[in-house]
Amino acid sequence: MTRSRSLLSGPVQYLKGVGPRRAERFEALGVRTGRDLLYHLPHRYEDATTVDRIASLRPGDDATVIGTVISKGVIPTRKRLRVFRAVIRDDTGLIECAWPGRPWLDRTIAKGDLLLVAGPVRFFHGRQIQPREHTVLSRAGADAGEGDVASGRVFPVYPATEGLTHRQVRGIVEANLGPLLDEIEGADPLPAEWRRELGLPPLGEALRTLHGPASIGEVEPARRRLAFEELFFLQLLHARARARIRLETEGIAFTGEPRLTSALLAALPFELTGAQRRVWAEIERDMEAPSPMNRLLQGDVGSGKTVVAALAMLKAAEAGHQAALMAPTELLAEQHARTLTGLLAPIRATPVLLTGSVTGKARQYALERIASGEASLVVGTHALIQEGVEFRSLGLAVVDEQHRFGVEQRGRLRETGHATDALVMSATPIPRSLALVLYGDLDLSMIDEMPPGRRPVITGVRGPAARDAAFEFLRERLAEGRQGYVVYPLVEESEVLEARAATAMHERLSERFAELGVGLLHGRLSSKEKDDVMRRFLAGDIHLLVATTVIEVGIDVPNATVMFIEDAERFGLAQLHQLRGRVGRGADQSYCVAFTSSREPSERLAAFASTNDGFRLAEEDLRIRGQGDLFGKEQHGVALLRFADLERDRDLLDEARRRARRIVEEDPSLSASAHRGLARELEERYAGREALYQVG
Ligand code: ADP
Ligand code: MG
Repeated sequence: MTRSRSLLSGPVQYLKGVGPRRAERFEALGVRTGRDLLYHLPHRYEDATTVDRIASLRPGDDATVIGTVISKGVIPTRKRLRVFRAVIRDDTGLIECAWPGRPWLDRTIAKGDLLLVAGPVRFFHGRQIQPREHTVLSRAGADAGEGDVASGRVFPVYPATEGLTHRQVRGIVEANLGPLLDEIEGADPLPAEWRRELGLPPLGEALRTLHGPASIGEVEPARRRLAFEELFFLQLLHARARARIRLETEGIAFTGEPRLTSALLAALPFELTGAQRRVWAEIERDMEAPSPMNRLLQGDVGSGKTVVAALAMLKAAEAGHQAALMAPTELLAEQHARTLTGLLAPIRATPVLLTGSVTGKARQYALERIASGEASLVVGTHALIQEGVEFRSLGLAVVDEQHRFGVEQRGRLRETGHATDALVMSATPIPRSLALVLYGDLDLSMIDEMPPGRRPVITGVRGPAARDAAFEFLRERLAEGRQGYVVYPLVEESEVLEARAATAMHERLSERFAELGVGLLHGRLSSKEKDDVMRRFLAGDIHLLVATTVIEVGIDVPNATVMFIEDAERFGLAQLHQLRGRVGRGADQSYCVAFTSSREPSERLAAFASTNDGFRLAEEDLRIRGQGDLFGKEQHGVALLRFADLERDRDLLDEARRRARRIVEEDPSLSASAHRGLARELEERYAGREALYQVG
């Protein structure tokens, strides 16, 4: 056992057919140990049972065939073009393949090789394929470390790297698979009972299948097994992080008489939507429980998150504690303060605003009231909790992250607020499946319903020919007293270029709309200048604002009804939707035009124009881009999921989460004998990498 254990956890170098040089190459593939090799799975399969049969090929076909090379050579032609030719054979017949201008292939393709070729069939002294691509599936004389797989009909193709071909990888896997699997056998981290319930094969069997399926149909169930395992351990990691916060820190059970919250509910000029009622109930339940709340509140711009946040803040207040609402910028903090002041006026509650601009006596007064507890509702920037502002008893922190959902702030919040309940608001809906993977240590609340009577923003995608008409339309809206935005994307990742494009447009539009106030906002301005421009826009002195994406953050100007987005194809769907959310906030009909330089709108722009529902767009985005893209650096989830697919494996994700939470609830430290295997596996998977997974 001790010896065999070293195979899995030992360096790949000592496995059969590897050695120090190949070990270096493997390093480039992220394969360091035997275990890594076992999990280095084929990225595709060539299935000989579904390729074309050579006998059936006709000129004009686009063929994919697998055959053994029976003769080959380089043939000079009259035009001095050297052509490499190989005749290949399968069970049904022969065909010639020709690679004009590629004589060097003579050195890489040998007689007896098993070749996969794909390309058009034409007639040239008989049938001939001109391969677009080809793969040597197995070698004639299979040199050391290159197994011969002619016995199978499904050929695994492995991720390879320079100096290590996919065939060499396959050979090495084959030479070591047996002993590696022997170690895995009997060490399956998932209980047999679960496998039965979920219909998943044992780990060893799944790995064996993925490395050498007898038929292509075996691949998917085996993949699902690894997908479930991956999702489960990630959810277990999240569940443990969540349990730590809930169990190790004592929170506040907010159980005061609901006089403020009921008063607000009674005073609201509208009924809460079903979604608002649901999330409010979720938040109330969390707040009444003695463990600290850690909840992410997602909802489109305008879905009514602020009302819910206000209720939560009042709930903290009526239990005798303080609540703070924090925004990413001063302007947004002021906006929140104004909104809350309006909302709470009927029940005679007033929030205290504390930002960097509140200075002198006013600041002193605010600080004193915060310290004495007299100020129970406080609004500010994130600096509120970072710069040693003394609260008498901060019970709830509401963090408005808009789209910049900051993990760091979450961490810091926990350090300062020993037992503070945390509610993080995000106006960028992401698919539930993605949220569970990225923020699985938080509880999720989604407001996926808009207040009634909201007029959706009318969205169009326009090519260059329609620009003039669009700008005339804009002129009419501005003439009616409305305001508008023209937004520029990031140009080649350069703030300088971006600012320049916006500046040039600003000049042109200032001429075109000479009678109106045209403002300019970009990232090269100081924050003081930016602030100034935004204030003038808010006041209506600026009618048309030419801006780069700096306006994306949730500024609310109800009189703005037109949003023009230049080079819209450069924006992601989430960003486009964010931008559109800047309009449609008042009583008037709003419009959004996405300009594109191409004649046909892209799939993304078409999706954007088709709906105003942020959650649906987020799902579309996931579908169009695929999850790989969503796990970009910004998402911290580098290589988060290797086997699971957020779309296909939703059922597994829910199962994984449910089971992980149940186990951690019963046994938070995973110390019961039945859970020790899980604890060990968790350790092996994530040791030292917790930071990557946003825990804490
Ligand atoms: P968010 O913070 O999600 O962007 P807000 O809370 O600011 O949304 O709400 C947007 C607007 O809709 C506000 O004017 C608010 O008063 C109003 N509103 C919120 N909830 C409802 C509701 N249930 N019915 C009607 N109007 C609502
Ligand atoms: Mg709001």
